[in-house]
Amino acid sequence: MFPLTLIIVATALLCLAMMMVLGSLLRTGIPGVREWFGANLAMIATLLLVAGRGQIPDSLSIVLSNTMLALSGASYYAGCARFLARPPRWRWLLGATLLLTLAIINWRYVVDSVAIRVLVSTTFSAVICLGIATLLIRYRPRNRSRYNYWFAALLALIFAASQIARGVCFLVLDPQPGDLLFGNIWNTALLTVGGVVMPVMTMSAVMMIHDVMLGEVEHAANHDHMTGALSRKRLETVAAEQIRNARLHGRPLSLLLIDLDHFKRINDTYGHAGGDAVLQEFVRMARSFLRGGDVVGRLGGEEFGVLLPNADADAALHIADRLREQAGAQVVRGEFGECRYSISGGVATLGGEDSFEQLAVRADRALYAAKHGGRNRVLADAGDTALPALAASS
Ligand code: GH3
Ligand code: MG
Ligand code: MG
Repeated sequence: MFPLTLIIVATALLCLAMMMVLGSLLRTGIPGVREWFGANLAMIATLLLVAGRGQIPDSLSIVLSNTMLALSGASYYAGCARFLARPPRWRWLLGATLLLTLAIINWRYVVDSVAIRVLVSTTFSAVICLGIATLLIRYRPRNRSRYNYWFAALLALIFAASQIARGVCFLVLDPQPGDLLFGNIWNTALLTVGGVVMPVMTMSAVMMIHDVMLGEVEHAANHDHMTGALSRKRLETVAAEQIRNARLHGRPLSLLLIDLDHFKRINDTYGHAGGDAVLQEFVRMARSFLRGGDVVGRLGGEEFGVLLPNADADAALHIADRLREQAGAQVVRGEFGECRYSISGGVATLGGEDSFEQLAVRADRALYAAKHGGRNRVLADAGDTALPALAASS
């Protein structure tokens, strides 16, 4: 009796602690947290009902406790599914829980067999755990480190195995035990593993939630909120990587600096919302126009930097001028009306010992010349190439 009571009390306290942790994460709005919270709540209810065994009717301590245990597993599965943007399949889960309840009623009131009841319950838990492991392995986010997801999947597989082992262990016991509290050491060990399933799985869920939050923070730090372009800081980091790669593989790399023309005038004519829409539409167009490896970052205000790997001065100037043409042909529409805009650009190509700052200074010099040459044009920095200017009129 003693070890089981201890397991129940310890597990209930652990579930309560994990519920409090999840409670603090509810406001993140991350899908699945509510279901995981509910899973722990159902597990605490299960444990309280099991603890009342002998003092409360069997309909509560056996039937309802098994139903709550199944609901706890179902809710954890649904949490994983929602977390991974998969359908939670509540209909299947509730249908299976109903079947389990009927089976428990049958093997308590029609044929009283603790072994079959344990087998039914552990089979249900094992299937849920296998489902959880499958979800985590198949649908884990590919852009995140696999560590947290594989860890949770591995735990689910270990628990599935322990559940199956416990079910089989009960079935092959001779003579058949009359009660759950059967003092066999293996049963106690497997029961302990079964007891810590929920808090431990919840810990792994919290690890996954933290991973998502970390991803969101990284995304916010690396991107400009309004346009979705890379932040200046991130662009500089990517540039340093691309400069290293270009040198390593002896490939060209160009930087294009862009400034939207007469942007103040756009704001004055169409309002700040009109100006914002132009910035957003420009970035959207530029991203769809540019090649896969090209990177667009917002340097500030209406200034952008575009990294063009594998583009020498000639190719970069050509790409930049086509982008300028696309911008000139774009009509941005909104409640403010219809707005056209143009861009000026300066191109510099990596040479010698250039750092990103030096490359940017040269591109900025070309951009300055483009502005002074009449805007709506792109120029290459004369320092690294003698390419002619490509202007709107050319
Ligand atoms: P130029 O052709 O010489 O570049 O002239 P310009 O008017 O584009 O340049 P200027 O630097 O004088 O003005 C830039 C304007 O961009 C001023 C600023 O209010 C506006 N701006 C900066 N950031 C934003 C933004 O996020 N949204 C909007 N709507 N306007 C912005
Ligand atoms: Mg500017
Ligand atoms: Mg400008």
